[in-house]
Amino acid sequence: MRLLDFKTIAVAIITSAAAVLQVPGTDNRPVAPYKIADHLYNVGASDIASYLITTTAGHILIDGGYEATVPIIESNVTAIGFNLRDVKILLNTQAHTDHAGGLARLKTLTGARLMMSERDAPIIEAGGRGDFVLTEPQWRFPAATVDRRLRDGDLVRLGSTTLTARLTPGHTKGCTTWTFDATDRGRTYHVVVLCGLTVLEGTRVSGMPAYPTIESDYERTFEVLKRMPIDIFLGAHPSYYDGMKKADALRAKPDGPNPFVDPDGFHAFVANAERRFRERLTAEKKSKR
Ligand SMILES: [Zn+2]
Repeated sequence: MRLLDFKTIAVAIITSAAAVLQVPGTDNRPVAPYKIADHLYNVGASDIASYLITTTAGHILIDGGYEATVPIIESNVTAIGFNLRDVKILLNTQAHTDHAGGLARLKTLTGARLMMSERDAPIIEAGGRGDFVLTEPQWRFPAATVDRRLRDGDLVRLGSTTLTARLTPGHTKGCTTWTFDATDRGRTYHVVVLCGLTVLEGTRVSGMPAYPTIESDYERTFEVLKRMPIDIFLGAHPSYYDGMKKADALRAKPDGPNPFVDPDGFHAFVANAERRFRERLTAEKKSKR
């Protein structure tokens, strides 16, 4: 009996250790922050983006990373000469632990207001509970109170900066792609911070009880993204747009063309995701027959 108890405990410890190793993983390595355009920086971890937009009225931060990303964000903000406490508005792309896990801690550190999609807000306020596919305890994170709930097309203003929230659901029900203008060497660019299009394991894109409208949501998202004006391609994960490589290219040739200006890369990324979505949809519909 005692041996059995010990075994049960040992298994529980090993299982939780594995979960900890998996989330966060190598995506959360500390890396140097990089400048993208005037007043626009990535201050996140190796593959977890966190965008700092500086204004004369304080700063905006898009995405809080994991809870474990917060010290990386804080030291990166300091490294580029700003103060995390000057962040006035926190925004979010999606209510998953790798983008929302740090929001509660960031709210405490900054006193900033959290503004995000009304469709993902309940998930953040429940610490990750209620997601349609990531239901295991390892996906939970510290809950954060949402101060303003946004709909498609809503504007967020601070100083002279205005951002538009575009609802691009599918990966989460409230997946939000952020668009705004930024200048670089006298030119103005349309910036897009893409939420994400990855279909997670366990998802049925033809519809599932926890998300019956997923198919039409994805269809609408692809249409919105294909028509979206874009110059600078950013996203919730730097790997979407080869962020580290582009940052290195900009550091190597600061007077050359801005490598983050990449509309072709954006359209290729969206087309690739749409192709994978359609393959999956076809396979699901075939197996239903
Ligand atoms: Zn996600």
